[in-house]
Amino acid sequence: MQDIVIVGGGAGGLELATHLGRKLGRRGKARITLIDRNHTHIWKPLLHEVASGSLDADLDAVNYRVHAHRNGFQFELGTLCGLDRTRRCLVLDALVDDTGEEILPRREKHYDQLVLAIGSVSNDFNVAGVAQHCIFLDNPAQAQLFHQRLVDRFIRLDRELESGQSDRRLRIAIVGGGATGVELSAELFKAREWFSTYGLRTITPAHLEVTLVEAGPRLLPALSERISEGVHRELTKLGVTVRTATAVVSAGPEGLTTKEGELIASDLMVWAAGIKAPPFLANIEGLETNRLGQLLVEPTLQVKGDPAIFALGDCAGYAFTGDDGEQRWVPPRAQSAHQMASTVAQNIRRELAGKDMQAFQYKDMGSLVSLSEYSAFGRLMGGLARGGISLEGKLARLAYVSLYRMHQAAIHGWPRAMLLAFTDRINHFIRPRFKLH
Ligand SMILES: Cc1cc2nc3c(=O)[nH]c(=O)nc-3n(C[C@H](O)[C@H](O)[C@H](O)COP(=O)(O)OP(=O)(O)OC[C@H]3O[C@@H](n4cnc5c(N)ncnc54)[C@H](O)[C@@H]3O)c2cc1C
Repeated sequence: MQDIVIVGGGAGGLELATHLGRKLGRRGKARITLIDRNHTHIWKPLLHEVASGSLDADLDAVNYRVHAHRNGFQFELGTLCGLDRTRRCLVLDALVDDTGEEILPRREKHYDQLVLAIGSVSNDFNVAGVAQHCIFLDNPAQAQLFHQRLVDRFIRLDRELESGQSDRRLRIAIVGGGATGVELSAELFKAREWFSTYGLRTITPAHLEVTLVEAGPRLLPALSERISEGVHRELTKLGVTVRTATAVVSAGPEGLTTKEGELIASDLMVWAAGIKAPPFLANIEGLETNRLGQLLVEPTLQVKGDPAIFALGDCAGYAFTGDDGEQRWVPPRAQSAHQMASTVAQNIRRELAGKDMQAFQYKDMGSLVSLSEYSAFGRLMGGLARGGISLEGKLARLAYVSLYRMHQAAIHGWPRAMLLAFTDRINHFIRPRFKLH
């Protein structure tokens, strides 16, 4: 029986493993194995909500082992650290616990077909001090680390204010005016509201200072100027200091330093200024990568130079010609990972059935940006919105939330996804609205 191994159970990889498990694994047509370095899956676009505390990662996470058991595939905990393409073996790093004791040794795993879906990491563009002093929102652990520091600092500030020791502010700086930076800024203001509701009453809006720093001339450079202006206006109304055309040249214990030599003093710093593929992909001999370190793929999504390996999502580099005739890369988004996972699923099944593979076609379905519960902005394309329609406010927020519901439907099926949506509504009433620990 063929061994199909998928590494990375994120937005694209988990959808693929679920699909292949149901269609091939359950029917004994192939052995499907998903490998991830974490025990559970959290949809990455929710990480800013985990960071602010509006989402409890423990409640929303999907356990890979349970999900695999229900959907006809196997799950293996491990971190991919190398690949021997000649022997079709991947190398998984040794797994150690927090005391340094080995849980699993470094080991090899054979594959007939391999799918790399290991996502991306933040790109610090080698800016000095960023890796030491800024937090990245690359995975749930980092989002939880930010949340923990946020809670600790709020509690400390509240005590200081109450005892009259100081009248200082909590200063948070976020670098990167893309969707992550914008959405996190708005979530932080929501968090402050809930902190005061739940007893930290000395803190007022004036005690939280959020500065969003963007090197380019405007926020959300990938979206239209209209959306960018609307988002800028709403954030400013909330109280966020938006600094466009401000390049950061270093980060240190006191804050960020700009190209002009100005210090943006900060207690907590988040770096969300762009992504790159996990660096070790560039060291796999014989495979080509682009400027972001993404593996170059053929239209079938097989990596260039090795038909036994597919790549999808943020770690795959696929150039296509846009409607305007310009060559561009498929953007690193959840919708791209979802679409690529569908094509890879079809191509693996077609190959097993002895049929020709299909070419991937990226369809831009639009973009949505949520400003917590305050507002949302976006543009939807395709389907009924053939030429594209702009959305704002409640309708845009509804469309934004439905993206996550669609991901849940892809992995759980619609009935269970609807039940989960219902459970979320109930939790909205019976559980605290914010995670304060
Ligand atoms: C805060 C935030 C908000 C975002 N908002 C949006 C949005 O609104 N809309 C949108 O379209 N996109 C959004 N994105 C981008 C989107 O999350 C990604 O493009 C998408 O998750 C990519 O999917 P993927 O399957 O390629 O990788 P991921 O979803 O990142 O999954 C990668 C998986 O691989 C695993 N992994 C990584 N390395 C290894 C290894 N060496 N060994 C084993 N396992 C490994 C990880 O644990 C993870 O489970 C957002 C991203 C962030 C951070």
